[in-house]
Amino acid sequence: MRESFIEFRNVSFRYGEEQPWVLKDVSFVIYPDEWVAIIGHNGSGKSTIAKLINGLLFPQEGEIFVDGVHVNQDSIWDVRKNVGMVFQNPDNQFVGTTVRDDVAFGLENRGIPRQEMIDRINTSLTAVAMNDYFLHEPHRLSGGQKQRVAIASILAISPKVVILDEATAMLDPKGKLEIMRTITEVQDKLDLALVTITHDLNEITLADRVIVMNEGQVWLEATPREVFTKKEELRRIGLDTPFISKLADELISIGLVFNNHPLS
Ligand code: ADP
Repeated sequence: MRESFIEFRNVSFRYGEEQPWVLKDVSFVIYPDEWVAIIGHNGSGKSTIAKLINGLLFPQEGEIFVDGVHVNQDSIWDVRKNVGMVFQNPDNQFVGTTVRDDVAFGLENRGIPRQEMIDRINTSLTAVAMNDYFLHEPHRLSGGQKQRVAIASILAISPKVVILDEATAMLDPKGKLEIMRTITEVQDKLDLALVTITHDLNEITLADRVIVMNEGQVWLEATPREVFTKKEELRRIGLDTPFISKLADELISIGLVFNNHPLS
């Protein structure tokens, strides 16, 4: 049987005893080489899932395993060395005055020997196609480039999973495209699991699998193609049809494409 990398077993979570349940009996698995997109409207519990994966929060009910380790107070440092997180605002993630220093920072903290540090900086900046920017100031880069450097800083510490929590939300369309392309290339080149968290259906197209959250529960687990066949239901849970699906409908309606398009 295939070993899961992340496993949620009947997880329920709330932010306090008087608070409503944010996650209700959530179960899913993510495998080591998969790209899984977690999608849902704002407030559906996606970021809470990310925080539970790396032990920033703990569930009141159920269990979470990362790489076979039960996530609890005693194991968080073991868990966190395997989990890299990239957040929405790249400007909040920079610590170095150059791109190179920024990527080096996490490695220095871990006491990585100098030559290995240089190798890891090269490899991770090459993986996100930012190897021509070593001496640039992070704050002067475009939004998409900043987020690529943030991804490189995470890749350099060799996590087994990278979680991108709304990592494209602040980017313009060009920046969003840049990041989606980077993620695809990184997943092809490196041996890791990817979890992208988004409320934008346009960003699930390239994932291997999609977990759709609604009201704190797993509403659907399916391939992107299967998800796109449920346009009406998605609209009812607050998710807009992706642009390419709208385009396919439009092309069908004017007779330019026959009605067998996978996204129609
Ligand atoms: P999403 O990422 O899907 O937008 P979140 O996981 O951030 O959803 O939030 C799920 C629910 O939990 C929301 O109703 C939100 O208001 C609530 N919530 C999030 N963070 C906190 C917190 N620190 N304290 C209390 N409630 C919170």
